Amino acid sequence: MSDALLADHEAQFQDAVRAFTAREITPHAAAWDRAGRYPRELFARLGALGWLGTAFPEDVGGSGGGSTLYALMCAELARGSAGVALGMYVHTALACGAVHHLGSDGQRRRILPAALRGERIACWAYAEPGAGSDVASVRTRARREGGGYVLDGGKLYITNAPFADFAVLVASTEPERGLKGLSLFVVELDRPGVTVGRPMEKLGMGASEMAEIVLDGCRAGEADRLGPEGTGFLQAMKVLTLGRIAAAAFGVGLGRAAHETALTHVRERVQFGGPLLRQQFVRFTLADMATRLEAAWQLTLHAARLADAGKPHGNEASMAKLFATETCTWTCERALHLCGAQGYMLESAAQRFYRDCKVLEYGEGTSEIQRETIARALEA
Ligand SMILES: Cc1cc2nc3c(=O)[nH]c(=O)nc-3n(C[C@H](O)[C@H](O)[C@H](O)COP(=O)(O)OP(=O)(O)OC[C@H]3O[C@@H](n4cnc5c(N)ncnc54)[C@H](O)[C@@H]3O)c2cc1C
Repeated sequence: MSDALLADHEAQFQDAVRAFTAREITPHAAAWDRAGRYPRELFARLGALGWLGTAFPEDVGGSGGGSTLYALMCAELARGSAGVALGMYVHTALACGAVHHLGSDGQRRRILPAALRGERIACWAYAEPGAGSDVASVRTRARREGGGYVLDGGKLYITNAPFADFAVLVASTEPERGLKGLSLFVVELDRPGVTVGRPMEKLGMGASEMAEIVLDGCRAGEADRLGPEGTGFLQAMKVLTLGRIAAAAFGVGLGRAAHETALTHVRERVQFGGPLLRQQFVRFTLADMATRLEAAWQLTLHAARLADAGKPHGNEASMAKLFATETCTWTCERALHLCGAQGYMLESAAQRFYRDCKVLEYGEGTSEIQRETIARALEA
């Protein structure tokens, strides 16, 4: 992968995350996938290194690295364990990102330092049984009462929920206004009226934990709301471009892991009197993988660099997310194919990558929603 144009500090950071991942994450990835969890202490380790705060400024406990360093980190972590990378990016890019961009100074200083040290873990709770791509269908209600709010409803498929300390959740303060009636709230998960369900079983991302959150008469104050009432979610969608850049980097990292696994396999596997790598079909598939991953990475870096330069980059983030996550799915499927029966066995990494990849096309807006966003920009 061509990283020749990375600045020195970027290359050094990439090396450091790569070495940490190779030592502390990759050797455990298969076991954590089977166990359905990874140690929560990993957040504190990443926090102590200053890496959870990579995309956040120093005055809220971040390390001021920016979007490019954050993308480099996501790619390296995903190369080691997609489940770990998922939990980390939901915590940082989505939950902490919403607090940073939409919260008041007081909320930022109260919530972010401990979260970026990895001492308090967050989840991002938007999805519901009836609300996936269609954001306006959110039914969780935040009703005004006694100077604050009472929250009722339910959130589904929430990554980190089984062990998180707090959720940044989307609720409707004015149901008749649809999208414009949605607000964001920060709610601790041990508050009365909040119940977290049992971890849910899923196809992939085995190491990451996910659960349902039920809200039944949960009280929230004005100080728990991020931004003005009714603007929260629309604002979040505008400013949380880091999530799309992270998802794109994530796709590149996971795709690279699958590519490397396939390359190792076809070098070692002997059929027809020589390594499979001598077969033209195999060589061309690997060449196509490398080419598409390179294109995905350059799109991702471009979106991240625009973000760091303070330039408009929403469309580029959507393009990077769309292309990188679809490339990742294609690469993981081809890698499994090249590994044959050996790859199909549960002890192989290729089958884990194949199970992990698909969800990257769902989160942060599915591929169709990204295409819709890109097409709308063409019309403007
Ligand atoms: C492993 C995992 C982790 C997750 N973690 C979280 C989390 O932490 N927090 C959270 O809030 N949510 C989480 N989710 C849920 C995620 O937000 C949703 O998957 C996502 O919003 C898409 O919604 P949906 O899955 O209900 O799909 P749907 O919206 O039901 O879509 C199904 C299919 O229809 C297509 N489609 C929908 N609308 C259109 C349209 N208008 N035009 C064309 N095609 C369309 C979609 O592209 C998709 O292919 C997670 C999901 C998974 C699987």
